[in-house]
Amino acid sequence: MSRLVMKFGGTSVGDVDRIARVARIVAAERKPGQGLAVVVSAMSGETDRLVGLARGAAGEGGNGARMSAADFNDEYDVIVSAGEQVTTGLLAIALRRIGIPARSWQNWQIPFRTDAAHSKARVSDIPDEDIGRSIDAGVVAVVPGFQGITDDNRITTLGRGGSDTSAVALAAALRAERCDIYTDVDGVYTTDPRIVAKAQRLEKISYEEMLELASAGAKVLQTRSVELAFAKRVPVRVLSSFLEPGTPNPGTLVCPEDEIVEKQVVSGVAYSRDEAKVTLLGVEDHPGVAAEIFSKLADANINVDMIVQSEARQPERQNILFTCPDRDASRAAEAIEEIRSKIGVEEVHIRRDVAKVSVIGIGMRSQVGVARTMFSALAQKGINIEAIATSEIKISVLIDAVYTELAVRALHTAYGLDAV
Ligand code: ADP
Ligand code: ASP
Ligand code: MG
Repeated sequence: MSRLVMKFGGTSVGDVDRIARVARIVAAERKPGQGLAVVVSAMSGETDRLVGLARGAAGEGGNGARMSAADFNDEYDVIVSAGEQVTTGLLAIALRRIGIPARSWQNWQIPFRTDAAHSKARVSDIPDEDIGRSIDAGVVAVVPGFQGITDDNRITTLGRGGSDTSAVALAAALRAERCDIYTDVDGVYTTDPRIVAKAQRLEKISYEEMLELASAGAKVLQTRSVELAFAKRVPVRVLSSFLEPGTPNPGTLVCPEDEIVEKQVVSGVAYSRDEAKVTLLGVEDHPGVAAEIFSKLADANINVDMIVQSEARQPERQNILFTCPDRDASRAAEAIEEIRSKIGVEEVHIRRDVAKVSVIGIGMRSQVGVARTMFSALAQKGINIEAIATSEIKISVLIDAVYTELAVRALHTAYGLDAV
């Protein structure tokens, strides 16, 4: 008996006609000896609507004082998880309508056990016996993505885009042969095909590269889903939900590096506009200052990305620049304010109109001159670089957000990725 997990994102289940097409795609995968579990997202726009309701109830955007996370986050999860539950029922009906045995499974029936980090929980365990038996008997399981349940039976959610992670976690628990992620593009491209018309679909991409692409902003897969697939060795395929069954739909396979014969120096370009730059000028220069600053930010649950430290003009002072998600910028400044006297910072500046652009490729490990190509391509377009960060297979730069698309296109061309 083999098993397959299929996942359909928000646009793919955006209305009842699309859900009917999803039912046909699922029906085409049914064959004797293969159990099917389908993970669904909320219909497109629905999660945003529910988030808006939750924030409205908390008085955000109005004159109400900001509620504490402890008072808000667990009930936020109750509200926003509802979108996916609706889709499970709709798809189960659409499947039955075309004669396919199917049923929905909510989280109290198939618990995705998570930690209690509401709104960004991590899945620890999924008891798969009941659902496994049911799918092996030929009944298609339709499961809501994005959510889990704590040991205290409270609902959690896995962060925006989290249905990808639900699908991979379920595939691992069911020991599925593969996890197929159906979305509104027909695979993983060399960059976001909505920005660069000459982007090309990749036949295969390694887990490592996909992980870097996702964490650098390519939202086609949630970062955590790739981490999990990598750790559990789940083969993941990304493919289009807009094609009728029977139409060629090879998609992109996310797989171990050794299955990729031609290792590109750069296989993709990604961008993220969800960035803010915080600059601390004239910070005291002695051991322990950086530890003080970044412990404070970690305690405030702020995810710091790039860090640059340089000598200030004044003696025994330094300047520190870091980036964090845009939504956390004010909290970061508040946190710094609380330790201002301890670290002796003279000025704090926040810039929100910045973007991060990254190039990624496993071939980079053994190639020189990759950074030079990047910096020259940006210089030719007159784009200034405000910070740089590198890993073994990635180079990221921080630039003025106005130039994001120009930079992505220039780099795509400079690394020879344009389709001819
Ligand atoms: P879903 O709702 O199916 O989860 P998402 O909107 O989360 O879909 O992800 C798909 C989107 O990811 C595409 O519409 C595309 O604009 C974007 N994207 C960004 N980078 C890439 C890339 N390198 N390859 C493919 N799609 C990308
Ligand atoms: N519906 C959730 C979101 O919009 C989860 C997902 O679609 O993956 O973020
Ligand atoms: Mg998504």
